[in-house]
Amino acid sequence: MFRNYKTVGRIIYGRNSFDQLGDILDELRTDDNSYVLFLVDDYFEGKELQKRLPARKNDIVKMIGTIDEPKTTVVDAIVAEVKSLRPTNPVSVVGIGGGILMDYAKASRLMFTNEGSSAQYQGLDLIKNKGVHCTVVPTISGAGAEISMTAVLTGPVKKLGIKGNFTPADQLVLDPNLIASVPDPQHFYTAMDCYIHNIEALNGNRRTIIGDSLGIESLRLCREVFLSGNSHTPENDEKLMVASYLGGLSLTYSEVGACHAISYGLATVTGIHHGLGNCIVFNQLDEFYPDGVKEFREMMRINNIELPQGVTQNCTPEEIEKMIDISLTLVFMWSHVCGPEWEKIITREKLRGLFQKM
Ligand code: NAD
Ligand code: ZN
Repeated sequence: MFRNYKTVGRIIYGRNSFDQLGDILDELRTDDNSYVLFLVDDYFEGKELQKRLPARKNDIVKMIGTIDEPKTTVVDAIVAEVKSLRPTNPVSVVGIGGGILMDYAKASRLMFTNEGSSAQYQGLDLIKNKGVHCTVVPTISGAGAEISMTAVLTGPVKKLGIKGNFTPADQLVLDPNLIASVPDPQHFYTAMDCYIHNIEALNGNRRTIIGDSLGIESLRLCREVFLSGNSHTPENDEKLMVASYLGGLSLTYSEVGACHAISYGLATVTGIHHGLGNCIVFNQLDEFYPDGVKEFREMMRINNIELPQGVTQNCTPEEIEKMIDISLTLVFMWSHVCGPEWEKIITREKLRGLFQKM
């Protein structure tokens, strides 16, 4: 049996396409009481983009911080607050920002139509009812959340996506001008999430021609951008935005691998964010991806990136064991990397050695 994937329904792409967001949302408004819920990265507080938001009288705009990665408790609180303010559901939940804000929008919109806490739905195909309309507007590129079928959340017991055909956004606005202000090294870290997605997708057992085709093109664009010597020009921003989209989409037809399996463990225990965490982990994975790691180091050199060292130095032995436990739960990723006999290769000793080197 093949899975019948759902993907983002409508995509607008181009410089300043953000200016058409108002028209797109107006098409969804039904009457004077209908409203849009905007979730906006608080980096944009007081910035020009906030003034350009096409918010109407009845709309709700919430600025959201990005110190922590998305939490189920925050999703639940957003939805409860909006429900207490309005008798009806929003006509669209709009997420403007990076993976954090897009995942908040993708998850919150599901909780207007599904009972209980978002933590109950962390996993594959657990959502019962279609959510309200969701629009995502990336302002930093690489994570691929704009196109993926998952919303990654940290809950009381696990960091795991709400994944399934109800999760992809309905509308995507790709405006490369929005990523111009991303500072270094964040620009590099998030972009490397895309590079690593491609290396992982293209090296494993769960490959398909469609996944490979998208991943190869995404990888080509990443190389053009990060081997160029000047990665953050308007032209390279546009290439990176497309690379992120293609790389995210390629994962629908493949799987991430060793770096993500290990970095989920690292993130859960240390709180290190996804883009940086992946870079720290990938830098130790010569054994799994020798050519990719070599090229990644070349990209770091060209772009003057220095990774933090010794990030697990102060972890207790119990914390290291917890990282290993979490990493070993990511069975799909490991079987993509090593095949069905992966448990013979991915031993606790091997993972302990890797974590201790970071
Ligand atoms: P992010 O949302 O973590 O943001 C990174 C930083 O960049 C923040 O400080 C933010 O304020 C800042 N920023 C964003 N846009 C900016 C701009 N235009 N100018 C200046 N600063 C800006 O970014 P990310 O790396 O895209 O997302 C990582 C998150 O996405 C993690 O929570 C991860 O779990 C999640 N993720 C989700 C998926 C998915 O498929 N759903 C895939 C990969 C990662
Ligand atoms: Zn990733």
